[in-house]
Amino acid sequence: MLKDDLNNFPHRRKNILTGEWVLVSPHRTQRPWLGEVSKSDLETIPQYDPGCYLCPGNKRANGEFNPDYKNTFVFTNDFSALIEDSPKAVFNKKNLLVARSEKGICKVVNFSPRHDLTLAEMDEGDIEKVILAWQEEFENLGRHPHINHVQIFENKGSMMGNSNPHPHCQIWAQESIPMEPGKELKNFKQYFRKNKRSLLSDYLKLELRLKERLVYENSSFAVVVPYWAVWPFETLIIPKRKIADILQLKENEKKDFSNVLRVITTKYDNLFSTSFPYSSGIHQAPTDGKEHKEWHLHMHFYPPLLRSAAIKKFMVGYEMLAEPQRDLTPEYCASILYGLSDVHYKHRKQ
Ligand code: ZN
Repeated sequence: MLKDDLNNFPHRRKNILTGEWVLVSPHRTQRPWLGEVSKSDLETIPQYDPGCYLCPGNKRANGEFNPDYKNTFVFTNDFSALIEDSPKAVFNKKNLLVARSEKGICKVVNFSPRHDLTLAEMDEGDIEKVILAWQEEFENLGRHPHINHVQIFENKGSMMGNSNPHPHCQIWAQESIPMEPGKELKNFKQYFRKNKRSLLSDYLKLELRLKERLVYENSSFAVVVPYWAVWPFETLIIPKRKIADILQLKENEKKDFSNVLRVITTKYDNLFSTSFPYSSGIHQAPTDGKEHKEWHLHMHFYPPLLRSAAIKKFMVGYEMLAEPQRDLTPEYCASILYGLSDVHYKHRKQ
């Protein structure tokens, strides 16, 4: 069957990173693009909010005061999901009730003292300082003997369960390799063993040749809507040089990473003229002291919006009970993102 036929009929696509599948139903969207063009109400967020626990000088839940920080500020989460002194324990009843203790550390990284900014509206120089904070945290946390995985992630927007607009991300570092990176580790290893190359190097080479799902590229990074994307405007940032973690970024790559972060988040905001919600995260090699030749750092963006600033994709019914499904093809969504300006709509001259 030809690729063009596939794109007109229901088909399943394989996620090569996790080994899972997604159902694509392009025949349900033969209608033209209905994306909202009207601007949603311009939010008036103050530069400083006396009630925000992340703003400089303000009091946090544990009674501590934030310093008068100028760039980034990192602290241990006052409501950590994981704690370091969790006692070691294993529970197993007939292999039916199975549990084990888990040690970990949870941190919060404030991107900026400004309450009203997001990555999309920050200068690339300031985004580089965020990358620097990520590097320091990854190095320090990964060095702990009982920390084998460090997950840096951001929940942006109330739609993603984050009610505080102050720009920040979280880092959860833990003993176990959690499920999502665990699936990727298996597939990275399998591919590397067989081909002696990284799975994402070969995938990126193909994407850069086909240019059907390319959203943006600079000299060190490319952004694609992955072939197997589940969320309408899901993207994947892939470094062109295979690196296992952010500590391996060269100076120019750090600059290019901050550029790619600003551009993709700006394109997202421009899509529906709104501060675009998403969950994003960097998948890096485990910090288990082993050499991870197979691992290729990458960053996922999972945005919930479908057709406007208010209409989101639901993961319900068939998706909860069977597998993920989408109507708009990844190629179609990539072409829309590709065509969007990398100048933020709020910065444009009216
Ligand atoms: Zn991943």
